[in-house]
Amino acid sequence: MATQLIFQAPSVELKKLTSLWFLLTGFTCNLKCRHCYLGCSQTNKSRNYLNLDKIKTVLESVKDEGIEEIYLSGGEPFLHRDINNIIRHCLKFNNVTMLTNGTLINDKKARFLRQIEQDYDYELIFRVSLDHYTELKNDEIRGRGSFRKVVSGLENLVNYGFNPIVSVVNIWDEDEESLKNGFLKLLSKFDFHPTDINVKIIPLIKSGEYEKNYSAYKEDDIVTRQGLKNCDTSLFDCANSRVVAEDGIYACPALLNDPRGRIGSTLSEASTKIYMEPNICYSCQASNKNMFTNNW
Ligand code: SF4
Ligand code: SF4
Repeated sequence: MATQLIFQAPSVELKKLTSLWFLLTGFTCNLKCRHCYLGCSQTNKSRNYLNLDKIKTVLESVKDEGIEEIYLSGGEPFLHRDINNIIRHCLKFNNVTMLTNGTLINDKKARFLRQIEQDYDYELIFRVSLDHYTELKNDEIRGRGSFRKVVSGLENLVNYGFNPIVSVVNIWDEDEESLKNGFLKLLSKFDFHPTDINVKIIPLIKSGEYEKNYSAYKEDDIVTRQGLKNCDTSLFDCANSRVVAEDGIYACPALLNDPRGRIGSTLSEASTKIYMEPNICYSCQASNKNMFTNNW
């Protein structure tokens, strides 16, 4: 009798779908950050954009399911030519968080976004990526001149009454408290009073450009049942989120570049149980928290 294979990767079951993500622009972005785990750039056209009709269909299909938050991401979502209509449509259903690099938010855009938001009962939230509160360190990763553009985008958002969140990858493994304080100090130069929720520190995901430019996961950086013993996997994003991309449904944003992350063609068909990817899911095991959704 053949020996039975008893190893099976640890899994996470979807508890309740509360956060719905739309990958709007595939991997196309106007920046080319040295740590981008999806390898996004201006020339990366490997994924098609998601169109408004598909977004409408998906939202209609989940309208009675108690979705609490919608996330619009990319690449850079503001590169989508239909972005204003997409925001409007999503705001009919829920609060919307846009994950953006902030470089395309000038004064006129921020004013316009405010006007859009005022037409709806739900809130439009911005998560703006900035990796360090010093220009030198940020621009080393995100490209020369990016710090000033992003800070200007943040200031424009604040000027029109938004309460932006800065999304930070702790690439130098700095003490989280002092990193956070550095950002809070930077943000308090604008006319608003940031609190802890205004800074979200994201664990490193060592794939894509990060792997090329810095390092890969080490040999023992793998998810194990033993390692997960001290984790609350119900906090992981795959326990409450799904990502809608042009080519199907993915377990979470970190696995968008991994065929194993694709769990179905439509939300209704998508598997509710995901098998963890040994390396990338290690980032969740090591941090034992939600990587992607907002901290509230
Ligand atoms: S990290 Fe964000 S801003 Fe940078 S290239 Fe990737 S998607 Fe674009
Ligand atoms: S990376 Fe984290 S959130 Fe994504 S599938 Fe793995 S455990 Fe779940």
